Amino acid sequence: MIELAAVVVDHVTAATNKLFTYSVPPELRGSVRCGTQVKVPFNRRWLTGYVTPEPAPEAPGIKPIAEIIAQDLFTVRTWALARWISEYYLCHLVEAVRLIIPPGASGRFRVPRLPQVVELNCAREVASSLSSELEPRAPAQARLLQVAAAAAQGLTKTELLRRAQAGSSSLDALLKRGVLTLRELPLGTASCTLLPTGVAPELNRDQAQAVEQITAALEAEQTETFLLHGVTGSGKTEVYLQALAASARSGRGGIVLVPEIALTPQTVRRFQSRFGSQVAVLHSALAVRERYAEWQRIQRGEARVVVGARSAVFAPVNKLGLIILDEEHEPAYKQDESPRYAARDVALKRAAEENAVVVLGSATPSVTSYYRAQSGNYRLLTLPERVASQSLPQVTVVDMRAELAAGNRSIFSRDLLESLRVALLRGEQAILFLNRRGYSTFILCRHCGQVATCPHCEIALTWHKGGRRLVCHHCGYSERPYQVCPRCGSNLVREFGCGTERVEAEATRLLPGARVLRLDADTTAERGAHDKILTAFGRREANILVGTQMVAKGLDFARVSVVGIISADLSLHLPDPYAWERTFQLLEQVAGRAGRGKAAGRVILQTYNPEHPSIVCAGRHDYEGFYRIELERRRRRRYPPFVEVVLLRAIGPAEGVLQRVLGFVVERIGKRVGQGIEGPAPSPFLKQGDNYRWQVVFKGDNLASLKEDLGVLLTELKPECKRQRVRLSVDVDPLSYL
Ligand code: ADP
Ligand code: ZN
Ligand code: ZN
Repeated sequence: MIELAAVVVDHVTAATNKLFTYSVPPELRGSVRCGTQVKVPFNRRWLTGYVTPEPAPEAPGIKPIAEIIAQDLFTVRTWALARWISEYYLCHLVEAVRLIIPPGASGRFRVPRLPQVVELNCAREVASSLSSELEPRAPAQARLLQVAAAAAQGLTKTELLRRAQAGSSSLDALLKRGVLTLRELPLGTASCTLLPTGVAPELNRDQAQAVEQITAALEAEQTETFLLHGVTGSGKTEVYLQALAASARSGRGGIVLVPEIALTPQTVRRFQSRFGSQVAVLHSALAVRERYAEWQRIQRGEARVVVGARSAVFAPVNKLGLIILDEEHEPAYKQDESPRYAARDVALKRAAEENAVVVLGSATPSVTSYYRAQSGNYRLLTLPERVASQSLPQVTVVDMRAELAAGNRSIFSRDLLESLRVALLRGEQAILFLNRRGYSTFILCRHCGQVATCPHCEIALTWHKGGRRLVCHHCGYSERPYQVCPRCGSNLVREFGCGTERVEAEATRLLPGARVLRLDADTTAERGAHDKILTAFGRREANILVGTQMVAKGLDFARVSVVGIISADLSLHLPDPYAWERTFQLLEQVAGRAGRGKAAGRVILQTYNPEHPSIVCAGRHDYEGFYRIELERRRRRRYPPFVEVVLLRAIGPAEGVLQRVLGFVVERIGKRVGQGIEGPAPSPFLKQGDNYRWQVVFKGDNLASLKEDLGVLLTELKPECKRQRVRLSVDVDPLSYL
């Protein structure tokens, strides 16, 4: 029983990371504990707060907790994780706490309600006779009964009303009558009443060895990290499934993280078919209430296998055996707003606290992870071959300079066009990848050189033919297109460069019999659209799938024999230390979509830089080769894994102020890192919206004390920054300098 509680208030206060002491009134003494959500007075208003397990120092003027809102939002263990995140990533404590509490619980005086389903509360025959009886005078009620009786399982209120075309008053009447009833039901179970049906295939030798080692580590109940390096299609997922089964046998749960865009129903079904309703799914496409329902099933121990995106690393699995990160190299595992945590490092931290095992899987491990495996921090498991003796697709690197010289001005090389023709004739499918959406990259006046530019960000606008808008890919600004140059009045305004819309149009134009689907942010804006497109492609309603990096990840279509990479160069020349690595990974991933069935796969990789290491190595599926070159470059240039990096960015309307603020920070704490300071300098993307961006990069062998000083300094600078309209943001272990 505690009399004083150390509380985190749910509000980003100026004094960051501070715990506030509240007294616990006698009538609440038995109930207030670590993880209790409470309502507390704060500066003459009410705030939500969270009771922590930390000691609560006596202080003058302590006020009492007003009431309890909810219990068990976190445990002592997850609290420790939040603490660590706020210290390591220099974020506000409450931002970290919001990661570990249930979805939708932050800042409210009420936890979200579970979704309700309407169910029949009488025999079907009764419902049917009552329905005929009601038909003449209350047809809406009659329809409701029919629909409810016909449904295999309870429908949500909205769904039922929609299907029966009825209003809620009709529903209320039936509920009152007692023939229908409302039930709170975790949607996760509703969506998956499956029994496990999938049978585990017999593992090949490499897979078996991997599972064996993971199982041994699980049995030892000691934390251990494995790096599972397996080429695309080598059966990594099967290793995950059997490792999860091993964890379950020892009575412990598991978390599987996949990148958000790979979290397709295709992926989820693989886990559900093995573990049935034991699986909980967490991703951002779910409504908050649905996520909350899943969260509760996990907390109650009903779901023992969690499949989810980045934030699922915080899932309240209570006896955790295993955390798996599929495609561990994915930048999506790092949150790109505060708190800028990396799910991989949180997973390692969490596993260490809970004696759990971590499996990092990838065909193209991040250079950092592979280095850690080479230096003995992780144990390396290798699956060098595809299962069922399929071979990796053969890659042809096409030099687009030579195409141009030969008079081919099309976006398709002759080789690609020919391969596509043949594939379509054979009834096979193809994937075309280009990491840029829209129709053309920019529009330019051939008379005066005027380029349509975002008035805020000062970068070229992309022409979206479908939506008939010129769009800024940086801030979302858009405007109407024009045919006549606004500067010189000439009508020589032309489109340059190429995006997925244009690839789609060209494929349709050049290939007889092409039925093209496009998968990018524009075609998947609507809920469920992503799945719809992939299902249609899987059913062979189309034979070509064009897309951005959405087509690169996780897709497993057996009939895809050709993958065309329209331009491998897009990401290669970005002013970013990770551009080479990112490009290599992306190319290897896309290539891996080909030849997963019986037909051999072929990849046509188009580039203007055929000698670049990222491209040469991707062309040979040579991960090791790329790793060696990239590691040497990192050693020379002092990039991770050889140093730690903290990026401090200042954002605001006046460049001079940004430079001054950053200069001041460098002066105050720069001595700590000696030589390892780059900047202050303009960020590669100088403007976003109407704000400028400047940055300074700190590098060093160990930045712990620098971070400590920086944290203090940032708090100190807050009022001044507010006055000067500058926002400072810290990125620890940044994955991009852009
Ligand atoms: P990865 O995750 O490495 O890309 P997958 O796990 O998706 O590879 O495996 C590729 C395909 O091979 C899948 O269709 C999977 O069901 C199948 N598969 C995996 N392991 C085996 C095995 N041991 N025997 C037969 N088929 C397997
Ligand atoms: Zn002009
Ligand atoms: Zn813009």
